[in-house]
Amino acid sequence: MSTPPPLAGGVQGPDALRPLLAAALDALRDGAAARGGPLPRGGPAAVGDRVRTAADPVLPEHGTGPEAALRTLVHALTEGAADPADPLCAAHLHCPPLAVAAAADLAASALNPSMDSWDQAPAASALEALVTRALAAEIHPAADALVTTGGTESNQLALLLAREAAAPRGPLRLLVGENAHHSLIRGAWLLGLPGPVTVPAPAGTLDPAALDEALNELGGPHTTFLVAATAGTTDAGLIDPLDDIADVCAAHRARLHIDAAYGGGLLFSDVRKHLLHGIERAHTVTLDLHKLGWQPAAAGLLVVRDPHDLAALTHRADYLNADDDTDAGLPDLLGRSLRTTRRPDILKIAVTLKALGRTGLGALVDQVCDQARQFAAHIEAHPRFELYDTPALSTVLFRPTDADDTHLAHVRRQLLTDGTAVLGRADLAGRRWLKATLLNPHTRPTDLATLLELVTKASEEVSEEASGEVSEEASGEASGEAKERVNQHATPDLLEGTTPR
Ligand SMILES: *Cc1c(COP(=O)(O)O)cnc(C)c1O
Repeated sequence: MSTPPPLAGGVQGPDALRPLLAAALDALRDGAAARGGPLPRGGPAAVGDRVRTAADPVLPEHGTGPEAALRTLVHALTEGAADPADPLCAAHLHCPPLAVAAAADLAASALNPSMDSWDQAPAASALEALVTRALAAEIHPAADALVTTGGTESNQLALLLAREAAAPRGPLRLLVGENAHHSLIRGAWLLGLPGPVTVPAPAGTLDPAALDEALNELGGPHTTFLVAATAGTTDAGLIDPLDDIADVCAAHRARLHIDAAYGGGLLFSDVRKHLLHGIERAHTVTLDLHKLGWQPAAAGLLVVRDPHDLAALTHRADYLNADDDTDAGLPDLLGRSLRTTRRPDILKIAVTLKALGRTGLGALVDQVCDQARQFAAHIEAHPRFELYDTPALSTVLFRPTDADDTHLAHVRRQLLTDGTAVLGRADLAGRRWLKATLLNPHTRPTDLATLLELVTKASEEVSEEASGEVSEEASGEASGEAKERVNQHATPDLLEGTTPR
C-alpha cells in the first residue's frame, strides 16, 4: 500500500505544506499576470472553456499528484478571477484581502479547529470569546458578538433573536427602509414572519418621520416591532440618521437593529466614527469585516447589546455539550451559532487587529473614503460625467451625461466582456448609475482617471455598435449574413432597446 498524502497539521505538516504552498503561490502570480487586468476577457463562454480545459476530467481515474493539480487549477482560477486587488475591480463590497489575513486563514485551514465544541477548538474558542467581546465593546460596553458568515446571516440572526425576545408578548413585525438590504426581507420570509413594512427613504436614507407615522398606524398592543436601519447602504453607502431613528424606536418601544455590514468599519476611524453616532442604542448590530475590514470571506459578526438575548440559541447535543461536561467547566459553544461545524474565522480577524492596530485599520478606512471623495470631485468637475451625490463612505455613483439607462447597462457589460473594468450598477432616484465601490487602499488617482477613460471608450463602442445596426436595418439593406454577424458579436440584450422590434 502506498503512503497516504501528507497532512497539513502536526509537527511535520508545515514542511509538507511548504512546497505545495510554493506551487500555489507561483500559480497565483502567473495566473494574475496571464489575466493582465481586473477580469478575464471574453465573458462567461470564454471563461467556461478555459476552466473546462483545466479541470476536465474532474475526477480522473488516477490523480495528477498535488503540485500539478495545484498549478493547473489555481492558475485557471486566478486567470479567470475578478480580482479586487486590481484598482479597476470596484463593483461590489468585495474587498481585496490583506496578505496578513490570508496568511492567518491558511493557518486556520491547517489546524482546522471546529467551533462547535471545546474539545475541537480549545484555544480558538478562547480567542473567539476574547475578540468578539472586544469588538462588541467598540459599540456597547455590555455587548457580546457572534461570528457569522456575513451580513446575511447576521441579519437573519438579528431577526431570530428579536422574534424570540418578543415571543412571550406576541408576534414580531419588521419595519425596514426602502433602502434596506434584501437579506432582511429574505430573513423575514425564512423565519415565517409576516411581510415587512417598508418605510420610505426619499433621500436614500430611512426617514424618521415616516417611520414614526408607520409605527403610529400599525399600533397593536400585542405586536413587537423591530426596526432595521442601515449604516452604509449597499447601493450608495448612505447612513440612516441612526440617533433620530433610535429616538423614534424608544418612543414606540420598538426594537432596533442596525445593519452596519458596510459602515461598521468606520468604528476604527477616529475621524469618521462620529458618523455612526447612535449605533450604541441598537439591540443588535450587523458588522462585516470582509467589507471595510479587508478580510477574506467570511468574517461577519452580530453584536448583541444584551447577552441575555443569546439564551434563545441554547441548544443541547450530548456529543458536543453534554450537561455534565458543561457543569464540569467545558465551555458550551453550540449556542454561539446556528451552524455546527464552523471555521475559526476569528483567527484572521484577531491577527489583523493586532498587526494593524486601531490606527492602522482606521487609516485604511480613511484612505478609501478620502479616495471616494476625490473621485467624486473629479467626476463633478468633468463635463461628460454626472455625479449622484457626495459619498458618505467609499461608494461613488456616476453616469455619462449622454447615456440613457439601457445604454448604461450595456456599457457596464461591455467593460466586463473586455475584461477592462468591473463596475456595479444601481437604480436610484429614478435613474440608473454606474457604481464604483472603492475598497482598495492602493488605488491611485491615475487609476480612477483611467476608469473614466475606459467608461468613455466603452460608451462610444456601444453607441457605434448600436448605430451601425440601426442604420443597416433602416436602410433595408442588411443581408441575413450581416444580421447574423451582429447577433454573434452582441449578446441578445445588447440589442434590446436599440432596435425597433
Ligand atoms: C453586504 C451587505 C449585506 C450582506 O452581507 P454578506 O456578507 O454578503 O452576507 C447586508 N447588508 C448590507 C447593508 C450589506 O452591504
